[in-house]
Amino acid sequence: MKKITVIGTGYVGLVSGACFAEIGNRVICCDVDEQKIIKLRRGEIPIYEPGLSELVERNTKRDQLYFTTEVGEAIEASDIIYIAVGTPMSETGEADMRYVMSAAKKIGEHLNSHKIIVGKSTVPVGTGELVREVIQANKKLPWVGFDIVSNPEFLREGSAISDCMNMDRAVIGSDNPEAARLIGELHSPFNTRIFTTDLESAEMIKYAANTFLATKISFINAIANICERVGANVADVSEGMGLDSRIGSKFLQAGIGYGGSCFPKDTYALAHISDKAGYDFELLKSVIKTNQRQRYVIMDKLRETLGGLAGKHVAVLGLAFKPNTDDMRYAPSLTIIPELLKQGASVYAYDPIASEAAKRELPEGVTYSTSLDQAVAGADVAVILTEWDEIRSMDLSNIRKLMKRSILIDGRNCHSLQEAQEAGFEYHSIGRPPVN
Ligand code: NAD
Repeated sequence: MKKITVIGTGYVGLVSGACFAEIGNRVICCDVDEQKIIKLRRGEIPIYEPGLSELVERNTKRDQLYFTTEVGEAIEASDIIYIAVGTPMSETGEADMRYVMSAAKKIGEHLNSHKIIVGKSTVPVGTGELVREVIQANKKLPWVGFDIVSNPEFLREGSAISDCMNMDRAVIGSDNPEAARLIGELHSPFNTRIFTTDLESAEMIKYAANTFLATKISFINAIANICERVGANVADVSEGMGLDSRIGSKFLQAGIGYGGSCFPKDTYALAHISDKAGYDFELLKSVIKTNQRQRYVIMDKLRETLGGLAGKHVAVLGLAFKPNTDDMRYAPSLTIIPELLKQGASVYAYDPIASEAAKRELPEGVTYSTSLDQAVAGADVAVILTEWDEIRSMDLSNIRKLMKRSILIDGRNCHSLQEAQEAGFEYHSIGRPPVN
């Protein structure tokens, strides 16, 4: 059993803290957000993540998992300190490092015994060294030592628990082999492949991995846009490409582009890192531009099918940036819905989970429906923005009967062309032939 403190109890800190507790460690999750900690202490989970509530409840009950706002005390009580605070996109597009640096300062102030400081947040290369300097500069007990390790997180929201418990690999970067070995040992119950490297390479692996996946998405979206113009079907193109084991089928589904808390900010951050390092990463800049443009494909399709949007009833199905999460960060709906409102449409939105989170982000004027049927009733057009199971499996004939006009625009290619045709829809999707 290891004593671990996780600083930052967001999507990553809470999930990894709960998983470390589940495999038998004593974990303290701390956060400066008092409301979050009050909720967690009451057994309420501040985010939506399948399976998390049960995991937190079980480990709290068996005294393996604790929550506190006393960050200093939490640091003093453990031997391994994980930094899992946010690194959001700043106004310039760079990673905003103020939360990491404030956590580092706190660690320095409360370093009462030798500890391993592990960076889990996604951070620019060189952050581990900066964290080392900040801790060193703020140490109250000069003789106490510490090690720095980078152990970036690869979980996906929506399947975070299983991603954590069955991780593909644990990347561990450090200049101290013993510290790296101990963090590797901590991961042994996860039965995963351990990849050990230096601090800088571990930090880079996270950005390189995320921007590569973003590149795959923008690539297939660009192919989809060409498919529409030349009469090919991107679903078949992507399946045919993905059968090549060198390419693989994952992250090769065309749609309205990536969103979420990671890909947008990490692509921007790496573009900045490379500019600063004197390398013009043109490929990545195109990936970002392609992704931004892809959201507007929906607007083009709406204009083509409806003429103008003024006075039209638009049902928006799905608000979260992807299914099985309530995370609205950089969700395509945040670009598309304001545009719909600006053009005079009446927007009726439905999301099985994210409506409350969406209300905080979207402008006034959206009507939030409590069911799919309610959102589409009387609609001129329905637009799918998130491929929740409920939206994938909705009965198109039933949906069509409830609508005023039979137009469906599917930004996630959830439905087959045949299904749309049989239901009597005029159906437009991404990179596939229209059904009229
Ligand atoms: P989040 O915004 O959900 O949570 C961050 C938490 O840190 C917040 O609760 C905040 O109050 C807390 N915090 C900030 N400063 C603090 C401090 N000084 N002391 C204590 N707590 C503090 O962020 P997240 O989505 O969990 O992401 C965390 C990091 O992990 C980011 O770097 C992100 O890029 C990376 N990451 C995220 C995901 C994901 O899917 N969300 C996946 C992999 C990696």
